[in-house]
Amino acid sequence: MKNLFLLAILFVTIPTFAQQKWQGKFEQLDQILPTPNSYRSASGAPGVNYWQQRADYEIDVELNDETQVLTGKETITYTNNAPEPLRFLWLQLDQNNLSKDNETDKIKTNRIRDSIPAKFFPLAGDTYGYDGGFKIKSVKDALTGKDLTFLINHTMLRIDLPTAMKTGDKYAFRIEWSFVEKDRLKFSERGGYEYFPEDGNYLYAIAQWFPRMCVFDDYEGWQNKQFLGQGEFALAFGNYRVRLTVPSDHIVAASGVLQNPKTVLTKEQNERFETAKKTFDKPVFIVTEEEAKKKEKDRSKKKITWEFYAENVRDFAFATSRKFIWDAMAVKLNDKTPLAQSMYPKEGNPLWAKESTMAIKNTLEIYSARTLDYPYPTAFSIHTADQGMEYPMICFNGGRPNKDGTYSQATYEGMVGVIIHEVGHNFFPMIVNSDERQWSWMDEGLNTFLERETKRERYPNVNISWGSPKGMSRYMRGDKNNMRPLMWGSDNIPRGDFGPNAYGKPAAALTLLRETVMGPELFDKAFKEYAQRWAFKHPKPADFFRTMEDASAVDLDWFWRGWFYTVDNVDLELDEVKWFKVKAEQKGLENKNVKAKAGDLAADTKAKEKASDFNNGPQEFTMINTPDNSYGEFKNKINDSDVRKKLADKNLYEITLKNKGGLVTPVIIEWTFKDGSKEIEIIPAEIWRVNETEVKKVFMKEKEVVNVVIDPNGATGDINLTDNVFPKKADETKFDQLKKN
Ligand SMILES: [Zn+2]
Repeated sequence: MKNLFLLAILFVTIPTFAQQKWQGKFEQLDQILPTPNSYRSASGAPGVNYWQQRADYEIDVELNDETQVLTGKETITYTNNAPEPLRFLWLQLDQNNLSKDNETDKIKTNRIRDSIPAKFFPLAGDTYGYDGGFKIKSVKDALTGKDLTFLINHTMLRIDLPTAMKTGDKYAFRIEWSFVEKDRLKFSERGGYEYFPEDGNYLYAIAQWFPRMCVFDDYEGWQNKQFLGQGEFALAFGNYRVRLTVPSDHIVAASGVLQNPKTVLTKEQNERFETAKKTFDKPVFIVTEEEAKKKEKDRSKKKITWEFYAENVRDFAFATSRKFIWDAMAVKLNDKTPLAQSMYPKEGNPLWAKESTMAIKNTLEIYSARTLDYPYPTAFSIHTADQGMEYPMICFNGGRPNKDGTYSQATYEGMVGVIIHEVGHNFFPMIVNSDERQWSWMDEGLNTFLERETKRERYPNVNISWGSPKGMSRYMRGDKNNMRPLMWGSDNIPRGDFGPNAYGKPAAALTLLRETVMGPELFDKAFKEYAQRWAFKHPKPADFFRTMEDASAVDLDWFWRGWFYTVDNVDLELDEVKWFKVKAEQKGLENKNVKAKAGDLAADTKAKEKASDFNNGPQEFTMINTPDNSYGEFKNKINDSDVRKKLADKNLYEITLKNKGGLVTPVIIEWTFKDGSKEIEIIPAEIWRVNETEVKKVFMKEKEVVNVVIDPNGATGDINLTDNVFPKKADETKFDQLKKN
C-alpha cells in the first residue's frame, strides 16, 4: 500500500498541500437532514408506518353575478389517521389575507418615490373600499347540528372538538360562509373576477374560496403557518362533491368530472362533449366563438346548478362565465384517456383555440412519461388575464392577443409556457403533494424543470434559456447578499429573489444533475421513483434528496449541500495547462538507490514556470527506472523500459483548475487538437473531494492539443467563462477584438 501510494503521488499529482481551505463540501448531510424513522425511511421512501390525514368535502355554493358574492355551505368529514388523538382542528381562511386588518399589509415594507402609477401605489387597495375576507356564519357538528366553539387567528380557523378524535376516528362538521369576490384588476391575487367593460360581463376564476383543512402530519404536526401571500398552500387529500349554482347561461369548468351534463348542457353541446371524449387528433368545439358571443348579449337571469365530483384531490377551484368558448380532446396515456379541455373568452382568440388544448396534451404526455401516468380524468386550462395559477385538474392562464387578434412571439411563448407550467403543477404539488408554504422549490422548481423538458421536446421554436444552468448564470453571478439558499422558508425569500430562487435555480440544478452529473438514464429513473413513491402523499426535502441517491447509486450529498443549502456559484478558472513529453530512451537511468521525489521526474525549474500557451513546445521529463526500494516485499519488477516506450510519443497535459465560486462541480473539458478535431471529457465533481479550491490533473493524448476549454457550452452554469480557456493569449485576443468591435 505504502509504496504504491508513493508512486501514485509521483506520477499523477504534484502535491498541492500549501492550501488548507476545506469546508467539508463532500461530507454527508447526516446532521442536517431529519433522522429517518418509521414514517419516513432512510431510503427516501414513505416508511412502514407512514400515515396521512384525509378530508372529504361536500359543498354547495352560489355565485351572485350582480354582487360578486359567493355564499356557501360545506360538510367536511375529517379522518384522523395520526397515531395521536386530536382535540382541535385547524382550517385555512385564505380570503382573510385581504380582510380589513390583514397581517400581510401590516408586515409589508414600502416607500414613496417621485412618481408612482396609481395602480401600483402600495396603499391603493385601501381606497377601493373592498370588504374582503370570509364571513363565517356558523360552524356546527354535522350530526347533532350543535354549534362548535371556534376561533379565528387571521387566516387560520381553530375548531374545538366536542370529544377528542382517536386514531381512525371520523368527524363531520358543517360551515356556512360568504365573501365578496375581488376584482383581479385591483388586487393581483390568485383567483378573482375580470370585468369586460365592452360587453358588461364577468369571467370568474374562483380559488381559495372555502375553508380548507390544514395538513397535520408526522413532520410538524399542524401546518398552520399564516397565509401571507407568497408561500402557497399545504393541503390534505380527499374527495369533493361540489354543486355550483351560477347564471343559467354560464359555462363552468372545475376540479373534477361534470356529473350532470344532461341538465346543464344543451342536447347539441352534450353530443359534442361525447365526441370530444373519443377524439384524439384535434380539439372539438363544445361551445363555439359565435355561440359564446351571442350569450354575451342576451344575459340570462335564471340560475342553474353544475355538479362536479373529484376523487383524491387536495383542493378544488372553478371558473365560470357566459363568455366561455369551450373545446376539448382526449389524450392517450397507456390505459388512461384524460380529457384535455380549454375555456376562454373571445379575447383569447385566435391564440387559444389554436394552442391551449394542444399544450395540455403535450404537457400530460411528457410529464406522464417522466413521472406517472396522469391519474385524473380531466385537465382544464382557463384563460384569465395576466396570471398563471394551478389547482387540481384546472389552472388559470394568461396570454392574450392584441385587440385585432395579432400577437407577438413573446405572447405566444408566454402563453404556451404558462399553460405547460400550470397544467404541469398537477404533478407537483397536486399529486406529489409537498408543502408549498414552506418549500417553494419542491413544486415550482421540479415543475419548472419539467416545463423546460416539455418545451425542449415539443416546442423547439420556444426559448428555454430560463431555468437552464447557462440561463441562470447571470443570476448566480449576482450579489449573494440578495440571494437566499433554496432551503429557505417561502415567505422569507425577498420578493426580487423569489423567481430565480423558487423556479429558475432549482430547475437549473436539476438540469445540471440530469445532463452532467448523473446522466439522463440514471436521473430519469430516480426522478420517476421519487414521483411514484410520493404520489398522493406528502414528501419533504429529505425524501427527495434520499430517493435520488437511493435509486441511482450516486452520492449527491455534495450537490444538495452546495446547490440547495448555500448561495455559492460555479466559477472555475483554468489556471494553466502544461505540455510534457517523456525524454527519449537514454543511458544512466539505473539509479538503484535514488530517493524518489517529484523533482526527479521533471526539470524542477521548468515545471515551476507558469505556462500561458503551447508555443514553447513540450517540456521533457526524465522517466527513471523504479528504485528497488519501491518494490517492498515483491520479488518481481515492472519493465520500466516498456513503460517508457509506450509513453514515448504521447502528449501529456497537466491541468491546473481553481474553484473560485465555491460550488464543487463536474469539470467538462473540451480538447481541440492540431488537426482541428475535438474531444469532450467529463470529470466527476469528486475530483474536488480532497482539495475544494485547487486541483491538478494529468491527461495523456495521442494528438497535439492546441486549445483547452472548460465547460464550453456553459452546461455547469459557470458564471464566468472567459477564464476557462487556454492558451490564455488566444482568449485575450478574442476579448480585445470584442472590445474593439
Ligand atoms: Zn408554478
